[in-house]
Amino acid sequence: MASSPISSNTSTTISSELQAQTKLALAGQLTDGAYKSVSLPIYQTAIFRFDDTDGKPAYDYSRSGNPTRAALESTIADLEGGAGAVCVASGMAAVATVLALYDVDAHIICSHDCYGGTERLLTWYKKQGKLDVSYVDLTDPLNLALALRPETKAVWVETPSNPLLRIIDLQKVGEIAKDAGIDVIVDNTFLSPLLQRPIDFGADFVVHSTTKYLNGHSDVIGGVVVAKTKENRERAHFAANATGATSAPFDSWLVLRGLKTLPLRLRQHEENAQTVARYLESHSGVKKVFYPGLESHEGHELAKKQQKGFGGMVSFEVIGDAAAVRALLTSTKVFTLAESLGGVESLIEQPATMSHASMRPEAREEAGITRNVIRLSVGIEHIDDLIADLEQALLAASCSTTKRSTKSSATHV
Ligand SMILES: *Cc1c(COP(=O)(O)O)cnc(C)c1O
Repeated sequence: MASSPISSNTSTTISSELQAQTKLALAGQLTDGAYKSVSLPIYQTAIFRFDDTDGKPAYDYSRSGNPTRAALESTIADLEGGAGAVCVASGMAAVATVLALYDVDAHIICSHDCYGGTERLLTWYKKQGKLDVSYVDLTDPLNLALALRPETKAVWVETPSNPLLRIIDLQKVGEIAKDAGIDVIVDNTFLSPLLQRPIDFGADFVVHSTTKYLNGHSDVIGGVVVAKTKENRERAHFAANATGATSAPFDSWLVLRGLKTLPLRLRQHEENAQTVARYLESHSGVKKVFYPGLESHEGHELAKKQQKGFGGMVSFEVIGDAAAVRALLTSTKVFTLAESLGGVESLIEQPATMSHASMRPEAREEAGITRNVIRLSVGIEHIDDLIADLEQALLAASCSTTKRSTKSSATHV
């Protein structure tokens, strides 16, 4: 590609010796050989001109390849330590792209509290006779060994899990999978490659919803598949190109711009989340807090071992009836009641009725997602405002419980 004014691979031009934070600040800068723009150009084009019919140009059609998308792909692949990546239209498109690589009679083992949309897709495929799936509690990696069948082709891992932030031992799962000759696929959306690199533990594929931390501004739906080997990157690219799942130039550009501040954002997300988790743990209206950064968390030691940080997601079980939970969810003023996560703004939600509503009720119950479980995506606002907001919302919840119980005891009298 020496003749092309566009380098599709920034890592050949930006030294691989640099720290991730530096590489991200520089990402995309060396892509435009024509005018040397410092900001990555958005190649908002569907097609590219051929010089003749003798050879194929570097890019011919944007579903198959686009320089803006290519710059993002090489940046994310480098961060994850993979051989390559393919950026697609959503996190679910990334999930579907990887699953498309397996034969219809393949058996997949999946962590039992995976993302609701992943569970919905796998359940739908199974109903169509396209893939068989077993849901297993992978916090005990032995359950993986027990669920193996001759036709098992892959294990699907999400750690920390959603919404209870259980931690799965990537090293152990990787060893069992390697012995069994099956692929390891890790959904790394909750942490990002700066806090966890599954390929270092033997993962074959890493997927992300770039909608979340990688873009970080709640203004793009996007996804990525990162492959450990070049061959698997080509297979994933084939699938994404064949189904038309690849992402648009402008969306790719926005995600790359978001990535530039990922290290800074993550630091603030985590610092705030740690303080919020400690605050909730000491609150009398809260039964249990789920945050891997707390010493009380079951997976704390394991998280310390395999992660470079604990991330910005905090879940907790609030005490009270349905009205109290509703009062909590509708009283926050800084936290927005919304699904999703990983944006600069703080979000609050009820997984049972919102993010995990698409999950089968039995699956939800098995995973321990009750209506009193509240999930927070802790943003980068000032911590004092976040704590004050939770304080008044928890007060509203406890008042709602007291009011109702006073009322009902009054009617009994
Ligand atoms: C959001 C999410 C997805 C799906 O991503 P979309 O961009 O919404 O399609 C997959 N996995 C996890 C862990 C997620 O949080």
